[in-house]
Formats: sequence, C-alpha cells, structure tokens
Amino acid sequence: MRVLTDILEEGAAKFGDRTAIVFGEQSLTYRELLDAVLRLTARLQKLGLQPGDKIAFLDENSLEFPVVVFAAAMAGGVFVPVNFRFGADEIAYVVNDARPGLLLVSATYRPVADRARSDFADDVKVLDVPSVAALLAASDAPQPDRPTIEPDSPAMVMYTSGTTGFPKGALLSHGAYIANINAIAAAGELAADDRVMVSLPMFHNGGLIAVLMPTLSLGALAVIMPRGFEPDAVLAVVERHSISATMWVPTMLSMLVNSDAIGSRDVSSLKKIWYGSSPIAPGLLEQVRAAFDADLYQFYGMTETGMTSVLTPDDHRLHPQGTGRQMDPAELRLVDDNGDDAPVGEVGELLSRQTPLGMTGYLGNDDETGKTVVDGWIHTGDMARNLGDGYFVIVDRKKDMIISGAENIYPREIEIALAAHPDVAEVAVFGIPDAVYGEAVCAAVVPAQGAALQPDDLVAWSAARLASYKKPKRVLLLDELPKNAAGKVLKHALKAPFWRVEK
Ligand code: ATP
Ligand code: MG
Repeated sequence: MRVLTDILEEGAAKFGDRTAIVFGEQSLTYRELLDAVLRLTARLQKLGLQPGDKIAFLDENSLEFPVVVFAAAMAGGVFVPVNFRFGADEIAYVVNDARPGLLLVSATYRPVADRARSDFADDVKVLDVPSVAALLAASDAPQPDRPTIEPDSPAMVMYTSGTTGFPKGALLSHGAYIANINAIAAAGELAADDRVMVSLPMFHNGGLIAVLMPTLSLGALAVIMPRGFEPDAVLAVVERHSISATMWVPTMLSMLVNSDAIGSRDVSSLKKIWYGSSPIAPGLLEQVRAAFDADLYQFYGMTETGMTSVLTPDDHRLHPQGTGRQMDPAELRLVDDNGDDAPVGEVGELLSRQTPLGMTGYLGNDDETGKTVVDGWIHTGDMARNLGDGYFVIVDRKKDMIISGAENIYPREIEIALAAHPDVAEVAVFGIPDAVYGEAVCAAVVPAQGAALQPDDLVAWSAARLASYKKPKRVLLLDELPKNAAGKVLKHALKAPFWRVEK
C-alpha cells in the first residue's frame, strides 16, 4: 500500500462481500464502501473539488465519516477533520487556520456550522454531507476522475488536542499515513479475523489512524460507536459483536471498570485492549487486568509524530510502570538540555525522528515548525525517564515542569501521590509565582463525593510521601477541573489567574 485509497481498493478486490463497517443497525461490505466512496467523490468533483484542495468535515463518529475520508483522498484532496465538540468560535478558528474551500457537515452540526460561518475569513462552501444510504440508493453510478496520488502528496491536516494552547494543524502525507497504519497494526498484533470497536472520535489520530484504518487495511471488521461514551452501551456492543480488539483512553477504562455493567456482560471475546493518549494510574491498570481477560498494549505518540512507542503485553510484566519502547519504524531519543543522551535513571526530552511517521510540518506555520522540528527530529515536549533497555516512562510535559529554587519538579509525580488520598477524586498540580523560589507547587483538587477534605490534610499527606520541596504550598479545592475535548486537563487555564495577578 502506498496511498490511502489503496486500502479501499485492495479491500474491495480482496474482501468484497465481507462486512467492513458496522454502525448501529447499518453496515457496509468492503465493496459497498468503495461504491459509496466513488459516488461521493464524483459528487464532490462536480462541485468543483480539485486535487490539492482542502476539504473540512464536521461530524461525530458515523457511517459517513470513513466515506468522506476516502472520498477526499480519492479526489486528491486534503482532509481536515473538525472536532465535533467545538463551539462556533473554535470551528471558525480551525476553518480560518486551515482555509478549506469546502466544509462538509452532517445535519446534527449544521446549526453550529451556520453560526460559525459569519466569522469565516474566506468564502467557504458549507454543504450537507449526503447519507451513505442516499448515495447508494441513487440510480446514477458516476465514475469520478482519478488524479494520481503520490506517497508524498498531502493527505490530511489533523489538529492537536489543544491541551497546552491553541490546537495546531499537523500536515500529514499519504506515505506517513500509511506508515502509521502499518506500524500500529503490527505493534498491536491486529489480524484479519479481528472484530474491532472504534470508540475514539475519528477527528483525532486515535479513532481514525490508530483504530479504523489499521482494521480496514487488514480486511477486519470495524464496529463504529456513536458519540458519547456510555459504559453500558459499550459493553453491550462488545458482547453483541464479539469484539476482539479495541483502543480506549484511561478515562474510558476508568468508566468501564467502575460501571455496574462490567460484571453482567460477557466480554470474554475481548483479547486485545490498546490504550494511550494520557498517563494511566497504576491502580487503574490493575482494575483493568481484573475486569478483562485481555492482553494490554500501551501506545504513546502525538499528532505530530504518530504513534511511536508500545508497551507490549510481555513488557507490562517486565516494566509495569513504563510507557513503552520505540516501535518500528519509529526512532526515539531521550536527550538532556545539552542534546546528549540521558543516562539510565535520568530524565530527558523525547525526540522523535520526523520520517517516516511524522508530520510534514504545521500547516502555514513555519515558525512553529522550525521550533519543533530540528535537524529531522521532532521535539515532543514530553519529558521521560530512561528505564534502560530502550524503555522509558513519561514523567510530564516540559511546559508543565515547575522550577522551584534550583529543583526541577514534575507535577505528575505529585499528582500520583495526591490521587492516592482516599478523599481525592481528581487533582492537577502546577506552578504559581513565588517571591523566593521563583515558582511554588500548587495543587487543584476535586474532593471525592461527600468527603470533608481540608487543604492541610493534603499538605500533611504529601509531607509523608514526597521530598519537602515537592509538597504543595497551596491547595485549591474545586468542583471540577477545566478540560478539553480529549478529557485532558487545561493547566494553562488553572495557572492564568495566578500569573496575571502577580505580574
Ligand atoms: P496540544 O499539542 O495542542 O497542546 P496535545 O499535546 O494534548 O495538545 P495530542 O497530539 O492529541 O495533543 O496529544 C499528544 C500528547 O499526549 C503527548 O505529547 C503526550 O503528552 C500525551 N500522551 C500520549 N500518549 C501518552 C501515554 N501513553 N502516556 C502519557 N502521555 C501520553
Ligand atoms: Mg502536543
């Protein structure tokens, strides 16, 4: 496979009548999927879509989603998925950043797209996406033009989660896309007879590149889940479709293992659980092991680099606290501030070789690309500890590191210690200004339901478990933590008021 449309055409040729996708009560065989894509491509071309044009798409997980992804590729276009949780302002931000000529939108999101429209800088055509049923029912079967697509042709602009600031658009070539798909299928030991659940949203790498595409590339079955992660519904679908493999994020795993339905559904078909996208609490990993009889695979990566490491089922026994080790064909380095390899036991920044998995660059942002990609290596901004033998554990984001006196403090370590307190439901640790030490440790804590937690309890708890300079100087008790659509805590939102007041 060289380009994205090869997945589709090889699928139709090799697996024809096999079911490719199930969504609710609807389904598509591999041949029907190709047919629907050909029809949509022809329609988009009739509307003027040319090779190289960007085409944005706003929808939740649906049967139409993969059809639009492939149709954009078949027309030689550049696919720009838009986060369906975005409000009108955020949609306008992405549209004005990516500058697509066309925004396709499903009926559910038409109202918010229309509200965003008045803020679009260019004249963008906003069009309703035809349903797959309507596409296949139409009597015409037009043949679209088939422009040549090369591995280095641009395929997609995928936006980062916006955890540390505004989302950035990472431009991905067809070659990088395919390399990612093959790498994940191999590292996750996916097979043609797997029955795979796609619960992650497809507007991010997770749902689209890590789960849906590897599944279709092997001729396996993809069961796409609708918006909203309901543990009961998810477990019912695992049982109903004998799901054998899936990817979840730690928040989803936590919802599943704590749900009432976990004991009452037969989930014995599930043999491979992939997870990643944020650190997992050791206690949660144990709960997952107890709840499912499945092999665990942890993935680490970012929108800009693709998935670059895996913690295999065997590694889970050897390095239960680890994040993973580089996976083929990724290349990772762990370097100190001077650019030298961080020795075993030490912390450094992870660098990831740009090729063959990484982005071409940030769309229209050479400044940011130049800062992030240096000499062919992508600076991940993630700090990790070298565990030896190529294994590492992510300790925190570089941006979140607190420098207090001469000490580097990784908030994550403090978060793990505080989260172990029985009265703590959620916690985020960050730096606030300190007249003497430059920065001091502050913990924002959401108390467990009904708990009578006092800030001093947590200071004492920390003093018993952490070096004294890591103990929070301040504890804020909050009802909830600010989070983005990916469920990641927005630390800059927590920090902002402190730094504004003090400066
Ligand atoms: P933004 O770049 O816009 O601030 P983001 O970094 O959260 O947002 P993504 O590209 O979706 O956007 O997420 C990649 C980041 O997620 C990584 O840099 C890392 O910090 C975190 N991450 C991913 N997988 C793991 C993992 N297995 N363990 C710990 N952290 C992870
Ligand atoms: Mg990032």
